Amino acid sequence: MKTIGLIGGMSWESTVTYYQVINKTIQKQLGGLHSAKCLMYSVDFQEIEEYQSTGQWDKSGAVLSAAAVSLEKAGADFIIICTNTMHKVIPMIKAKINIPILHIAEATADKLIENHIQTVGLLGTKYTMTQDFYKSKLTEKGIHVLVPSEEDIEIVNSIIFQELCQGQIKESSKKEYLRIIHSLYENGAQGVILGCTEIGLLVHQEDTSVLLFDTTTIHGEMAAHHSLL
Ligand code: GLU
Repeated sequence: MKTIGLIGGMSWESTVTYYQVINKTIQKQLGGLHSAKCLMYSVDFQEIEEYQSTGQWDKSGAVLSAAAVSLEKAGADFIIICTNTMHKVIPMIKAKINIPILHIAEATADKLIENHIQTVGLLGTKYTMTQDFYKSKLTEKGIHVLVPSEEDIEIVNSIIFQELCQGQIKESSKKEYLRIIHSLYENGAQGVILGCTEIGLLVHQEDTSVLLFDTTTIHGEMAAHHSLL
């Protein structure tokens, strides 16, 4: 079994889910008392968020690169970055290490293709929904990406940072997310990507008939399977 290196803490609320998904997947595959071999470097998210909101991506990239170097030195065979947004700085991180990083958007694109999805809605932070670093990984594979209206982008983003990353799960916010998911569907999305690793804490597949693609689950399962290759 290969050792997975997790760069977590963005936020730690969703890193908990990663740890559960990875271990459950290994347990399901191997049975018995099997569990994942993994190492985690969990950052201080306040620092990362301040760099994000002030546009200092190079500084956040340096923090994550140092984490990746530590994980490689500690014996990780490959790395996953436990957030969609911070894949923006993946080229900086890759340049500092010799082990692979499994990209969350590439894993999601593969899952969409498996499910014959050609047009998909995307929910995530405002960085993920409005910038190209994430959407390009989907469009490169021929998938058309729809994002919410400007007003709804603000709502989705503020619920992530003000509530979900701080462990607050509110019924009113769930209603807003379900409304936005439905409007993406009405605009032609065949499914919706929960493209922020905390959204799965708020919205579940049983809440809607619209097909959901939870990036935390997809990425965690992919990492577990990869560790067994
Ligand atoms: N966990 C979130 C994501 O998947 C947001 C936190 C962050 O900005 O890194 O994008």
